[in-house]
Amino acid sequence: MRERLAEVVEEALKVIAAASSAEAVEEARIRYLGKKGVLTQVLRGMGSLSAAERPVVGKLANESKERLEQALAARSAFLKQEEKAARLAAERIDVTLPGVLPHLGGMHPLTRVRTEIEDIFLGLGYQIVEGPEVELEYYNFEALNFPKDHPARDMQDTFFITDEVLLRTHTSPVQVRTFEKTAPGVPVRIIAPGKVYREDDDATHSPMFNQVEGFAVDTRITLGDLKGTLVHFVREMFGERRMRFRPSFFPFTEPSAEVDISCVICGGDGCRVCSHTGWLEILGAGMIHPRVLEVAGYDAEEVSGFAFGMGIERVAMLKYGIDNIRLFFDNDLRFLNQF
Ligand SMILES: [Zn+2]
Repeated sequence: MRERLAEVVEEALKVIAAASSAEAVEEARIRYLGKKGVLTQVLRGMGSLSAAERPVVGKLANESKERLEQALAARSAFLKQEEKAARLAAERIDVTLPGVLPHLGGMHPLTRVRTEIEDIFLGLGYQIVEGPEVELEYYNFEALNFPKDHPARDMQDTFFITDEVLLRTHTSPVQVRTFEKTAPGVPVRIIAPGKVYREDDDATHSPMFNQVEGFAVDTRITLGDLKGTLVHFVREMFGERRMRFRPSFFPFTEPSAEVDISCVICGGDGCRVCSHTGWLEILGAGMIHPRVLEVAGYDAEEVSGFAFGMGIERVAMLKYGIDNIRLFFDNDLRFLNQF
């Protein structure tokens, strides 16, 4: 009987050691220590032992039972510990990992540049005024001294809606609309940003683009005021740059000039961007043509004014070194996220 006990204990210890889950440990307990368990069966045979042997075997049986109980408890504790360690490892959070940032929108580069231009002129006491994009032929051409059938109208490659109605080709109509609403004698300093439309489409031209018109009317406004204003603008927008005023022609200004700044890429030495001239055209300007003032009801002997216009895309392209205007309209986040 002693041998049988020793065998059972040895076998049970092996089974317990191999138990790999709480269920397996419980199964082992039932198998050896349960009511119909192997050890229990063996102990039932104690009745057949002699009175001398009984206490010795009884002690041995109790020891065996205790040993198995201890082994079961130890195995169970070990498995619990192991399970906890595994769970902790699985649920471990690496606090040094970068978090998921919420996606933030940003300002479109054109909006950014437009705001910058507006801020410069607001600082000079200008007001912001907007006009309609669908415009009358009268305001877009006639009132601005474009004679009917004048070739200058072809320069603009206009989208006509009817003979009288068109998509404005420049922001200059805002001049006439403003003059009509302003009482004579009241000085005007206006900046007019907005979309304009021309039948143009290549790397530097888009059928829709943004322009800013600026104009000032008062007594004794001179070409010197225009130059001073533009020098200030260029310095604020592009930093210290050389500038030059080239004679040009616009029907609504006289004299007219195109304004260049020293190349923002090469600084004036000549490069691909400036076609090796060292200069970049940045805007058109001039003294408002007396006929435009008179059509709007001003006395051109009494007041004078200057006007200038620039493309916002053009300014943005020069400022950021962008060589294709379409990038502004493609809505590619790889491009837009850089601003
Ligand atoms: Zn250059």
